[in-house]
Amino acid sequence: MTVSIIVPCHNESGNLKILYERVSGIMDACGEPWGMVCVNDGSIDDTLLQLIELHQQDSRIQVIDLSRNFGKEAALTAGLDAARGDAAIPLDADLQDPPELIPELLAQWRDGYDVVNAVRLSREGESWLKRASAHFFYRVINRMSVVDIPADTGDFRLLSRPVLDALQSLQERRRFMKGLFAWVGFRSTNVYYHRAPRHSGKTTWNYWKLWNFAVEGITSFSQVPLQLAAYLGFIVSGLSFIYALWLIISTLVYGNPVKGYPSMMVTLLFLGGVQLMALGVIGEYLGRIYEESKHRPVYLVRKVWGKIRDRERND
Ligand code: UDP
Ligand code: MG
Repeated sequence: MTVSIIVPCHNESGNLKILYERVSGIMDACGEPWGMVCVNDGSIDDTLLQLIELHQQDSRIQVIDLSRNFGKEAALTAGLDAARGDAAIPLDADLQDPPELIPELLAQWRDGYDVVNAVRLSREGESWLKRASAHFFYRVINRMSVVDIPADTGDFRLLSRPVLDALQSLQERRRFMKGLFAWVGFRSTNVYYHRAPRHSGKTTWNYWKLWNFAVEGITSFSQVPLQLAAYLGFIVSGLSFIYALWLIISTLVYGNPVKGYPSMMVTLLFLGGVQLMALGVIGEYLGRIYEESKHRPVYLVRKVWGKIRDRERND
């Protein structure tokens, strides 16, 4: 049974050597044959050179160089598509996911689980705001979506061959991997760990990106915002109707001295705001439909080092 470790790399030159040492030490001790698929996602430092060096030093390292930066989800998809093992484990290049946990993942896999989630008990080196917003995000998305996306689980997990095949059969271009991992189902279990701070370099995720990531997740896995827009519309029209009734009655009873400018403005602005919001929600989904309908590949490969099935995700 071979195990593929999938590593998306974007400007990770300070981490690769030590990542390789830690992973190879642990995997060699495991006794299973293993390989590592490193996806260079448009790095602008010497990440690619270092990866090629690693490949020349150890042929179990395969390197896929994408044609530009496609983002982590696409890089991960490229790696998972190329994985040929009986199981794959996505691993962040910055050593935030401890390779030391891999034997535990493998043990659960041998016990018959198809998905083994690595759940974070703590996140060191991350701000209070980031932890709080992550917590809030998982609560919101799990309320809204039909699939249960496990909280505090990153991409670090073990995926067995049937799960990998299932993931490959999913055709969507916008890939919110955490959601897709949960969507495919299969027997899953958890192991727990403490998340380390980044070994070197800086995260490329700022709050704006995280916000967009959250919107991506919610719109990919839930239609609740669309329904909310409709319900909000109902409620507002209901209230407007009551207000209109009251206006008519009060005009009939007390007459109309033509004031009402403030109330008119308030209603106008309020309704305008609600309508724009609803339109925005629709636009968010429409944009996604537009993107999906273009059928562009999720990523493009510039060059591959090491043997990898030569097929891309644009069947
Ligand atoms: N990454 C990537 N493409 C990108 C951004 C990040 O492949 O456009 C990789 C990065 O090299 C790392 C992983 O995704 O291996 C996680 O990124 P990061 O550590 O910046 O995210 P965080 O841990 O802060 O969520
Ligand atoms: Mg990280």
